[in-house]
Amino acid sequence: MPRTYLITPGPTPVPPEVAEAMARPLIHHRSPDFKVLLAETLERLRRAFLTDGDVLMFAGSGTSAMESAVTNVLCPGDQVLVASAGNFGERWRKILLAYGLEPRYHGQEWGERLDPAAIAAQADGCVAVYVTHSETSTGVVHDVRSIAEALRPTGAALVVDAVSSLGGVELQTAEWGIDVVVSGSQKALMTPPGLAFASVSERAWSLAERATLPRFSLDWKTARDAQAGGGTPFTPPITLVAGLNAALGMIEAEGVDAIWARNRDLARATRAGVRALGLELFSPDDDSSSMVTAVLMPDGIDGQRVYGLLRDRFGVVLAGGQGPLRGRIIRIGHMGYMNQFDIITALSALELALIELGYSPPSPGAGAARAVEAFAGVGAAGD
Ligand code: PMP
Repeated sequence: MPRTYLITPGPTPVPPEVAEAMARPLIHHRSPDFKVLLAETLERLRRAFLTDGDVLMFAGSGTSAMESAVTNVLCPGDQVLVASAGNFGERWRKILLAYGLEPRYHGQEWGERLDPAAIAAQADGCVAVYVTHSETSTGVVHDVRSIAEALRPTGAALVVDAVSSLGGVELQTAEWGIDVVVSGSQKALMTPPGLAFASVSERAWSLAERATLPRFSLDWKTARDAQAGGGTPFTPPITLVAGLNAALGMIEAEGVDAIWARNRDLARATRAGVRALGLELFSPDDDSSSMVTAVLMPDGIDGQRVYGLLRDRFGVVLAGGQGPLRGRIIRIGHMGYMNQFDIITALSALELALIELGYSPPSPGAGAARAVEAFAGVGAAGD
């Protein structure tokens, strides 16, 4: 099988330590060993979420935690607001519509940063406001801290999708007063897909008490009661919990501040390399884009062809554009188990693929060279 380089916004590469933890013989989920494993993992998750409140774990992809943040918070007919500037903002709207709600909608152009004041201006009378932290489709990390501040006078609860940001970029769940943060295992948390999480504030628990939308396997109270007893309500993906625990151990050993700084530096070098290839950035050319870099394709070059060529010829898996951006951009993910060499690989592979499709970069290897300068802190690469 050819070698695969996952340099994508998820699923991200799994470190050997995590793979090793998942390869151990299966333990039973009602055993004392699992109880210890679960307790340690949940404690570490709370630290990763930067909250002392409850963090609930579900079997499922990130979208299941998003869905739980609708069904456990709302009643039919509730006023809610979605703020969206990309594919995952749209997902909130789709879930709400699927449950019969008629959300208010604050939409901005894909690629823009959400405007906190404009969101707050539409939030009066809303039970909750649904936003995205790292909008994976555009590379923008939205300023959820300012959104939380702007919403405070409105009394609306804030629900944040942090599927592609939690653990990779600063998100102070408790300190910033975010009521619900949802995430998944397969991005900055370096674990295969299949686990989803929701942090629930005191205020969100009171909403859950009154929420009457239908729910069963994603019921928060059921999960909380089982977790309080040292277990899960249903058979959990035991192997993934073992992997996640190892990954969270690695995150603690490195320290979240160091990880946020690493992602920022990888993103800076990526942007410098992209510019040196003579390409334009779609994602912001600043530190508000530290998880995913989105690159505009040169005129006449279809991003989906670049994506396919990179994958099939070089085994380098980046990501194409979604929705209206399909074909127009290529996305490089730099979250999770990533280092400088992944960025250099991504830039070089992108260059080779573009040359094959007729593009002439300024000089061979310019992107990788610029990234090396950025990593080494020499030359004019910084921004
Ligand atoms: N939100 C964001 C910001 C995401 O990046 C993703 C995954 N790309 C999701 C939600 C959905 O997660 P999942 O595919 O795990 O359901």
